[in-house]
Amino acid sequence: MNGKDCIFCKVVSGEIPSDRVYEDEDCVAFNDLHPQAPTHILVVPRIHIDSLDTVDEVQKNLVGHLLLVSAGIARNKGFSDEGYRIVINTNRDGGQTVFHLHVHLLAGRPFVFPPG
Ligand code: 5GP
Ligand code: ZN
Repeated sequence: MNGKDCIFCKVVSGEIPSDRVYEDEDCVAFNDLHPQAPTHILVVPRIHIDSLDTVDEVQKNLVGHLLLVSAGIARNKGFSDEGYRIVINTNRDGGQTVFHLHVHLLAGRPFVFPPG
């Protein structure tokens, strides 16, 4: 898929409204529409990338950036000590439903491992 009909490309452009908690030159972070934890934030790159599976070598700094931004948001919200869960669902068995790469930051309750 390219970005044309992509929900998260529309969130990034503002065509679909979202509750933004952070943004910079490379990414946007906003509250998940159907939160699975007291804090559930999605961190997405501004450029369209289908999934972790299609990230290429030149985009590895961008993926690192998404993770560090997620950790920074968690720290700023006071979750560093208690902890939090970072998830990148990838393709069908990974449970990915929106095919624009995104990091889930879940916090505010304990999480079990392995997940279901
Ligand atoms: P996935 O299952 O692909 O890992 O996660 C997609 C996430 O996007 C889900 O948690 C879902 O609730 C969220 N989501 C889907 N559409 C929208 C939307 O239009 N706005 C927001 N804020 N979240 C969305
Ligand atoms: Zn997209």
